[in-house]
Amino acid sequence: MTRKLHAPDAQQLSLFDAPVLVEQVSVEQVLAEQALAASDAAPDAQATSPVTALLHASPASPVSPAPAETPSVSIASVLRPAVFRHPNADREIRLQDHVVGYALKRARRRSIGFIVGAEGLSVNAPKWVGVGDIETALREKAAWILRKLGEQQERQQRLQAAKVDWRDGTSIPFLGETVIVVLDPRTTGAVLNTSAANALLKPQAQAQLDGVPQLTLHIGLPHTATAEQIRDAVQSWLQRQAKRVFEERCQHYTQQLGVRYTRLSLSSAQTRWGSATADGTIRLNWRLIHFAMSTIDYVVAHELAHLREMNHSPKFWDVVRSVVPDYEAARGTLKDKVLPVFD
Ligand SMILES: [Zn+2]
Repeated sequence: MTRKLHAPDAQQLSLFDAPVLVEQVSVEQVLAEQALAASDAAPDAQATSPVTALLHASPASPVSPAPAETPSVSIASVLRPAVFRHPNADREIRLQDHVVGYALKRARRRSIGFIVGAEGLSVNAPKWVGVGDIETALREKAAWILRKLGEQQERQQRLQAAKVDWRDGTSIPFLGETVIVVLDPRTTGAVLNTSAANALLKPQAQAQLDGVPQLTLHIGLPHTATAEQIRDAVQSWLQRQAKRVFEERCQHYTQQLGVRYTRLSLSSAQTRWGSATADGTIRLNWRLIHFAMSTIDYVVAHELAHLREMNHSPKFWDVVRSVVPDYEAARGTLKDKVLPVFD
């Protein structure tokens, strides 16, 4: 599911009858825009619908119209490694100081198309265009290509780092804290152990342990458990906690806002943190449970505020601010944080 939250944003530009005209190809560009919009959140247009209001963490990033202007920041200063190689690369070119291996596909089309995706650069070109012309086109768009390759590489590194290794001792974020997963056959179900460590430690001893994770989640599984079993057990525990915490926060904010909701449900939506409908149904993404309470509170307050203002008008934000004064910080967190990848 997180895969989609971080859907690969392939980007493309195209040279019609290279190298004279420069245009972006419609199909892939639309897809790239959708991916961008989706990964950020629901756009305002949807949110202003009279029946449904969707939480948007931030306005969708504008897709840079590419490639005519080169960025003023030097590419060389942004990119670390000098080699980018598509796994199916059959050709190679040196662009500025970087070696780029790309996959060349001959296609029935009238233009040269460049696609930079998670795997690297691929080039689609008509049969009648010679390699020399393709290379000229690549050099002309070197700045755009290198910038996109650098962005993709950074994303892959962030996703790789966020991937959970499902084993005894792995850690997961829970309410903004780090919880260590412990396989413990004596445990029934899953138990968060806060008391043992905390009750035994005196305040000064605790201070010494500052920064050391003390929360352990004991999962009733044998040490031979598979990664999948561990993931499923942890995930269902997180979902139970989400339900409990969200219900409690909803109670709190319905009182503050003087609203009533009819139903609260957990969602696994890939692109939304929450939604509210005019009939009083609130849906909250269970993955919010990874975040600190202040972030959860913002989303809860946001959705409940829609029961007063079913839009994103200044009046709506006034309502949100009245109960969560520093909501901007929470919005930033939702936008920037990479969720652990569960697969
Ligand atoms: Zn909203």
